[in-house]
Amino acid sequence: MQFIDLQAQRARISDKINAAVAKVIEEGRYIMGPEVKAFEAQLAEFGQADHAIGCANGTEALALPLMAWGIRPGDAVFCPSFTFAATAEVVPWLGASPVFVDIDPNTYNIDPDHLEATIEAVKAEGKLRPRVIIAVDLFGQPADYPRISAIAKKHDLKLISDSAQGFGCTLNGNHPIKWADVATTSFFPAKPLGCYGDGGAVLTNDAALAERLDSLRVHGKAVPSDIQGRTFDHDTKYLNMRIGMNSRLDTIQAAILIEKLAIFADEIEARNRVAARYNAHLADHAASVPAMIDGGVSVWAQYTIEHDNRDGLAAHLKSQGVPSAVYYPIPIHQQDVYSVYPTGPGGLPVSDEKAGRVISLPMHPYLDEATQDRVIEAVRGFNG
Ligand SMILES: *Cc1c(COP(=O)(O)O)cnc(C)c1O
Repeated sequence: MQFIDLQAQRARISDKINAAVAKVIEEGRYIMGPEVKAFEAQLAEFGQADHAIGCANGTEALALPLMAWGIRPGDAVFCPSFTFAATAEVVPWLGASPVFVDIDPNTYNIDPDHLEATIEAVKAEGKLRPRVIIAVDLFGQPADYPRISAIAKKHDLKLISDSAQGFGCTLNGNHPIKWADVATTSFFPAKPLGCYGDGGAVLTNDAALAERLDSLRVHGKAVPSDIQGRTFDHDTKYLNMRIGMNSRLDTIQAAILIEKLAIFADEIEARNRVAARYNAHLADHAASVPAMIDGGVSVWAQYTIEHDNRDGLAAHLKSQGVPSAVYYPIPIHQQDVYSVYPTGPGGLPVSDEKAGRVISLPMHPYLDEATQDRVIEAVRGFNG
């Protein structure tokens, strides 16, 4: 049994993907070839955004908007601690400070009340300038965007949706970009929409920001608004208007993603069927099965339950041939290198507690009922 079975998806569309990859290899436009633009347009449409900018991975997808907004030393970026390290990692890249906020005990997503209290505390202390909130769609379900975006507006902060795990999730039918200034995602193979290597994207409805992101991902290249109304006595291709980086999405990965995006909506439905079946059979046997925000649809990057004897359950599952994983055993603020950064008032008791209780079960769109039943029986058979 696989925790995430990528080969099952491959069996479904391998002919199309092989042909798409072969075409890119034949045509030779490996860097920023036509498939990149085509995929970006399709991704933007899927995510209900005006613009999508491909980049090298989901980590740099977070760094690019921070660079575009000029985030710098002395700035505070508010984010959860119960997430993958990349969410916070990009902040010190720019010399700024992550400020860690606790999570809601039911959804594991950033707690709006604690977010507001943390912003107020940073303002009262007067050492850091509040600039950005990064909300994470942890395990695939949308954060509480109506409340978070109201807080962002009230305090004049930018809002990023880190949707590396949640791309495709909706809240009352809307993708996170309805509320966020920027939504980012990762195409790491195990993410719900993954490629065959590294990749990422930034989505936004802000045309000027999209142009700046396009520049930053290619070494700060000159973009149309840089050139407009000016004349140059040399090729503008080698004009660098700002300090950027190299963070492009490979043409081969874009070609693969075009085929994967075509079946993504269908896969999200399949993931929801698996989750509903797990819920129905496990609710009485786990300390907690996943709770959804009202009106939310998850893409189920992970199906995560809680158990009072989490480590005992993990060992039992292993003995039954059922793989499991713990996301995340150590909240970021507890890791040595991040412990120097501030946390919100009262610390992060929910994040601290959940780290010892959560366990994720096999989840992917091709998990058949017989295999689901083996997982369910293994969980139900644990009496620890
Ligand atoms: C995977 C992940 C990222 C980083 O994506 P990469 O493509 O691996 O760089 C960022 N944030 C979250 C929440 C993630 O799960």
